[in-house]
Amino acid sequence: MNTIKTVLGYPRIGPARELKKAVEKYWSGDSDAAELETTARRLRADTWRDLAGRGLDVLPGNTFSYYDQMLDHVQLFGIVPDRFRGPSRLDTYFAMARGRDDVAPLELTKWFDTNYHYLVPELTEDTVFQLDPAKPLEDLTAARELGVDTRPVLIGPLTFLLLSKSVTPGFEPLSLLDRLLDAYADLLSQLESAGAEWVQLDEPALVQDRTPAELDALRRAYDRLATLTDRPRLLVATYFGDPGPALPVLTSTAVDGLAVDLVSAPGLVDQLAVLPSLRRKTVVAGVVDGRNVWRTHLGDALSTCTKLLGSVGQLAVSTSCSLQHVPYDVEAEDDLDPRVRERLAFARQKVDEVVVLGRALSEGPGVLVDLGNPSGGPVEESGLIREQSVRDRAAAIRPADRQRPPYDERRTAQESIGLPALATTTIGSFPQTADIRRARADLRTARIDAATYDELMRAEIARVIGLQEELGLDVLVHGEPERNDMVQYFAEQLDGFATTKHGWVQSYGSRCVRPPILYGEVSRPAPMTVPWTSYAQSLTERPVKGMLTGPVTILAWSFVRDDQPLAVTADQVALSLRDEVADLVSAGIRIVQVDEPALRELLPLRAAEQKAYLDWAVGAFRLATGGAPAGVQIHTHLCYSEFGAVIAGIDGLDADVTTLEAARSRMEILGDLAAAGFRRAVGPGVYDIHAPRVPSQEELADLIGRALAAVPGDRLWINPDCGLKTRGYAEVIPALRHLVEAARTARS
Ligand code: GLN
Ligand code: ZN
Repeated sequence: MNTIKTVLGYPRIGPARELKKAVEKYWSGDSDAAELETTARRLRADTWRDLAGRGLDVLPGNTFSYYDQMLDHVQLFGIVPDRFRGPSRLDTYFAMARGRDDVAPLELTKWFDTNYHYLVPELTEDTVFQLDPAKPLEDLTAARELGVDTRPVLIGPLTFLLLSKSVTPGFEPLSLLDRLLDAYADLLSQLESAGAEWVQLDEPALVQDRTPAELDALRRAYDRLATLTDRPRLLVATYFGDPGPALPVLTSTAVDGLAVDLVSAPGLVDQLAVLPSLRRKTVVAGVVDGRNVWRTHLGDALSTCTKLLGSVGQLAVSTSCSLQHVPYDVEAEDDLDPRVRERLAFARQKVDEVVVLGRALSEGPGVLVDLGNPSGGPVEESGLIREQSVRDRAAAIRPADRQRPPYDERRTAQESIGLPALATTTIGSFPQTADIRRARADLRTARIDAATYDELMRAEIARVIGLQEELGLDVLVHGEPERNDMVQYFAEQLDGFATTKHGWVQSYGSRCVRPPILYGEVSRPAPMTVPWTSYAQSLTERPVKGMLTGPVTILAWSFVRDDQPLAVTADQVALSLRDEVADLVSAGIRIVQVDEPALRELLPLRAAEQKAYLDWAVGAFRLATGGAPAGVQIHTHLCYSEFGAVIAGIDGLDADVTTLEAARSRMEILGDLAAAGFRRAVGPGVYDIHAPRVPSQEELADLIGRALAAVPGDRLWINPDCGLKTRGYAEVIPALRHLVEAARTARS
């Protein structure tokens, strides 16, 4: 029997970010819906042709989206909140994603432990699902017209409900399950009539801890869907981890196939190989990593698949999850060091790996040589990866290196910085103006030389320092004009990282990022921020805060090595940052902020693994900052809310000052911090920088009042929620004026 070759999903932004450009053009009114649809159709057709041409047997369908796949399901199930209804289906859709005038958009949050963000559907106890299946049906037919059979991909009912939020207090979204299943049943029957042979139902929520009631709901859902008579065959996909107790529940139902992530849960294969219930089912073995960029070790992947051959009804070889988390094509990266490049596989290359593995299972392992080096991966012994001095240094780390003097001693030593109670500061970046972006682009294309670029950045820093003095802020920043991105800026200067030219990955909607590739031992050949920070400090009597990105965030927003534990890589990054802190201190800087906005993002999906993660994550931060003398004040900054699960970690960072995103939740976090016994200084953001508006002085005073109710004034800082880089000066100047004024009033 031939092994089927497929993938669970594919990028949709276009190899040159065509979708981003088309969507933004439509938003700005420079194109109409017809033009946007034409681009979308072309991108979708190009993907189908490419994937079919590379030799996949079954293609995932319905993977295209104008913004987000969860948002697509809000329209699919007819649960658009009234406030968004607009003149057309498309405008309603974008209104939910981006808001409109005075209407706030749906909440945006991270998709499991990835840096992809989805829009959170809103449910109430009165929610009525009204199926509107035009999108998946049209997608299926359009592919068919090109001669391509697709397997429509949908979010499964459990994951859909578990990721939605109830806007009726105390109401459980899961209680809508039966009503939602009616809609799925209707949808499945329509897809079957339209000729779909299979449908893929994505259930990544099953790799998180689930209660007995949720597992029971899972059983009910798939018992019901599987016993429908008019339906395509059902493939349930779990990914990003081990489905654990959800696995026997799923296999006991009559679903036809199961897709499993054997990259994040390699041990699962032995369990699957002996499950009698799989003898009559299709198993889609996710052996090609959909989330990282290394070439697959084909020999290992082949032996994993071989374990299943003969013990499951039908074997398919696939990616561990959708390829939407990796860039399109390594071939586009002509500037990469060939020794790094030859180890990489982006989406296209991963499809080729799936195809050759499928062939090897039918025709024998000999065909693997068709893809060249059959081992791949970042692990090969080569001077590129092994830098003995880095490993020696990491091996010599002692517990004391992660330990600063006691907090009270630090507080006393830091009094000489001379800060008032309710000290005011910002989070680091000031608006990235068109002039700044132009200077960076001009440097890249050699229209200006490095000296001219430096001059432009220094002028910008001088302007930002002058502005902050005029506004009366207490702790100043240089404004980060020289940083394209808070991770990429450091990755470009550290050894062990490569950056790409076209390696874009969708983060949310039209926002794409180019994660750096961490391929080797990390070290710092030269100071990275010292000249800019010292220059800023030379312009003012007030303290200037040095600004670094923390080790966990650098890892979270990069593609990382998979040949050693993340904890080991994190310590290497931390040692480089530790040297940077030391150099800043030698240059006379008294305050250093180490940002960790992604601390929450890397938190493992299973509670049992979270403590171990927090231990190494916190340890790496402390290694980065642990060399700072008592008199140097260490700040950290965290955002992207939902701190609950990492409160203990925040305390563990042992920063002197912690600034947090808190304006949207109206200071809720302060109660949680107090309950956790947190006693160091904190700056809960009072100015919500995610909205393009100027908060009034009264509004800010109100939030400061709330904060003062939870934190004594000498431990409270007054600052915005996050960096100001995405805002314009027209809002930032009056907002900061109000902020400084509100702090002064509160102080007196
Ligand atoms: N220092 C960074 C800035 O101000 C922090 C950004 C972030 O938290 N995402 O831009
Ligand atoms: Zn932030």
